[in-house]
Amino acid sequence: MTSVGEPTDLPAESRVALLVPGSTAYVDLVLALLADGVFPVPLDPALTPAERDRVLAPIAPDLVVTTQEQVDDLLAARHGRSRSLPLGRPIHCTSGTTGTPKGVWSGLLPEPDAAALVAEERDLWGFCADDVNLVLSPLHHSAPLRFAMGTLLAGGRIVVPGKFDPAVITRAIAEERPTTVFCVPTHLQRLFAHWDVVGVPDLSSFRLVAHAGAPCPVAVKQRLVELFPAGSTWEFYGSTEGQFTACRSEEWQEHPGTVGRARPGRTLFTDDDGRIWCVVPRHARFTYLGAPEQTAAAWRDTPAGPAFTVGDVGGIDDDGYVHLDGRRTDLIISGGVNVYPLEVENALREVPGVADVAVYGVPDPQWGQRVCAAVVGDVAPETLAAHARRVLAPAKRPKDYTLVPALPMTATGKVRRDALPAVAANTGR
Ligand code: ATP
Repeated sequence: MTSVGEPTDLPAESRVALLVPGSTAYVDLVLALLADGVFPVPLDPALTPAERDRVLAPIAPDLVVTTQEQVDDLLAARHGRSRSLPLGRPIHCTSGTTGTPKGVWSGLLPEPDAAALVAEERDLWGFCADDVNLVLSPLHHSAPLRFAMGTLLAGGRIVVPGKFDPAVITRAIAEERPTTVFCVPTHLQRLFAHWDVVGVPDLSSFRLVAHAGAPCPVAVKQRLVELFPAGSTWEFYGSTEGQFTACRSEEWQEHPGTVGRARPGRTLFTDDDGRIWCVVPRHARFTYLGAPEQTAAAWRDTPAGPAFTVGDVGGIDDDGYVHLDGRRTDLIISGGVNVYPLEVENALREVPGVADVAVYGVPDPQWGQRVCAAVVGDVAPETLAAHARRVLAPAKRPKDYTLVPALPMTATGKVRRDALPAVAANTGR
């Protein structure tokens, strides 16, 4: 790691941007900076220079920890100037699924809230000294970093195999005997495909397998529950901005498709547009850095306290179980009818031969937007269309099906819907 700035003279409350790949040292550095009263700002080291500069501008870091290749470029872009700020938890950036990643900042709090957030994670997931946390997701994202920090603070250890490679992960499972893992559904899909070829490793060391970050196809979830030890599999629904739910797989089986109930200390409700809102405790408040309008739109006052939304849409049943329909920004309006891509994707996944699918809208002079599907797998568009005619109302049926070799993904395993039209045009058939 190389630093740009003055590492020897960092006042408390400075911001240190981390632009390096994840490792055990990375988590140690985050913990050390927090202990010194300095803000670590974990960023995706794979950002292009233009994206990186857009993300760094509102952060205005005092120091950038980076790789040798990026140093000259960063100095030329003049990142690394001094600025002083109050204490808080690490500033994390969102995935950028719906645009440029947003810096999420815990705000002007009288005390550091990192400890409170890590304690919440520890209490929910029971991190302990015997834990070995297998790190599969990039550590610049909040959930994997919280799992890793919680494990180290509890006296356990972490295993960071680096870039996701199913063969390397399978070896790490056999050699390191991990007890916990946080993953996204794409990791599970890729591991299961690999295990179909080489065989399933001994998974008995796991006590906690938690997934979140993107919708989990039913078939993947069922396989997960079958393969891993009873009681070890959990889903949660959350975002960089905050954690909303947690769900044992037994609850998921009783309430198929749910992402769980509100976590302790959270209250969830939906508004008239179906958007999900979350009332949070004081230590979990945040603002978007340098984006006061976005911050104002995300928050509202309620009798129970301030609540925020990240724009996900769904329902909450009488027992408090949340079902997600998708994101407000993904909504396709075709002929005046609201179409949530997730519902169409779930329907198309039922067709044999479909390995993955993403649904998106493109402008259409007649319908406003036309529903399109990009499909990975060995299946004929006519078969998909026939299935859609059986199970989906006319407005929800895709008008175009394009077979693509792979879906465009963010580093955190989410489909980049904005990139789908170009992928379909360039690689589709
Ligand atoms: P950006 O806000 O920059 O567009 P992002 O919202 O994808 O990026 P994250 O904070 O990493 O950034 O992702 C949070 C989102 O991931 C949630 O708002 C939700 O849409 C989705 N998500 C999280 N957990 C689940 C889950 N269990 N099932 C389905 N979707 C989930």
